[in-house]
Amino acid sequence: MENRKSGLIGHPLGHSISPVIHSYLGKRLGINTDYTLMDTEETDLDKRMVFLKENDVCGVNVTIPYKTDVIKYLSDRDEAVEKIGACNSIVIRPGSMTGYNTDHSGLKRALDDYGIDLKDKRVAILGAGGASKAVRYLCEKEHAREILQFNRTVREGVLPLKDAPVLAADGGFDVVFQSTSVGMYPKADDCIIDDPLFYGNCRKGFDLVYNPFETSFMKRLKEAGGEAHNGLRMLLYQGVEAFKLFNDVDDIDPSTEKDCYLNMLIAMNRVLVLCGMMGCGKSTTGRRLCNGADRIFIDTDDYIVKKTGMSINDIFATQGEAVFRQMEHEALSEIKSAVDDDKEHEYVISLGGGMCTENNIPIIRSMGATAYLRQDAVTLAKRLEGSDDRPLLKDNDNLKTIRALLEKREDLYMEAADEIVDY
Ligand code: NAP
Repeated sequence: MENRKSGLIGHPLGHSISPVIHSYLGKRLGINTDYTLMDTEETDLDKRMVFLKENDVCGVNVTIPYKTDVIKYLSDRDEAVEKIGACNSIVIRPGSMTGYNTDHSGLKRALDDYGIDLKDKRVAILGAGGASKAVRYLCEKEHAREILQFNRTVREGVLPLKDAPVLAADGGFDVVFQSTSVGMYPKADDCIIDDPLFYGNCRKGFDLVYNPFETSFMKRLKEAGGEAHNGLRMLLYQGVEAFKLFNDVDDIDPSTEKDCYLNMLIAMNRVLVLCGMMGCGKSTTGRRLCNGADRIFIDTDDYIVKKTGMSINDIFATQGEAVFRQMEHEALSEIKSAVDDDKEHEYVISLGGGMCTENNIPIIRSMGATAYLRQDAVTLAKRLEGSDDRPLLKDNDNLKTIRALLEKREDLYMEAADEIVDY
């Protein structure tokens, strides 16, 4: 099969999640991709661009510090590159190099996932580097009412960072974008603004940084009662768009994108815990994520069945739910120490539907990333029709029982989870 070469140019590159996106999508779509990190010193950029043309590379992503520098090598560019003045994806074909900006479209899709609408909103952008330009372009395109941009180094159209708390107090910000590199691993304790006055006047925040998963900026905003998200979905969607462009793929279905996202969570955290109601697809998804990968899948129900030699139905019937919940707690503690001891492997752990309790949540949250696979009651009831291995679905009205359980459990799933994924 043809080997489609692509990669990432920038300097310094360090650790990157982009290869995870491209290799996963390639594997899933049956395209033989070879995505490599091409760390390129500033003095070698010319040589690198020649190398790309001469070596059958089908496309590259571009990161710090070259998003503007690469524009001069392009034979063509999309409107966003023209307007933003930055290019993060280049499609290379014989005789042509076409530049795209998938940062702004990736950000738009991430905001859509989180239900953040910019229309008529008062928006603050912290930072004035390459990424901030894509943020500003999107805010303008989406008709934000007012856009105030702040930066450490003041330049035209940009206010001093120290003025942000006062301007936040004067009218509040509906949405704040943290687009500086402050707070990135390994300097995770650094935060772009310390003043609590600022956070108390911001409703929703989006940090373009995604490592650590919860940045200091996000923590402060949440502590002040706001809603905060990181930039990992933006990275996913800009990568999906770049993959489509590089490999001439028209469409990637949403469930492939979601699996790709869960793979990114595993790559970043080593351990991925899946929680949610019975029938939401935790075990199926977990098995799919581990299939063909050097990863270990653990289903807590299977673990308990194996340990006790009894089915879940039998445990409920002979010992009752309280004993089963204690068994789940013990199983979780045992699995946690096994996973902590084996740093060599990646793990996906599917939790029983009732395992997100106040007692278990601290253990769950200490294991790695947790995703809540959210599903509505009607779909769950349909999926569970006729199943005879669910002791909590004893009466005939599955939908009523599932609705009641979901109502009782949903806040706990949210508390346990770092991310909600709607399959
Ligand atoms: P950049 O062009 O190098 O700009 C860096 C920005 O951070 C500038 O505004 C700079 O301010 C500010 N800054 C750096 N250190 C600072 C400090 N100690 N105090 C205050 N401000 C500081 O980088 P970029 O391309 O805009 O990227 C910014 C961040 O966005 C990076 O962390 C990058 O990984 C992330 N990003 C994420 C995605 C995604 O898909 N999630 C996409 C693109 C970028 P000065 O002008 O004063 O130096």
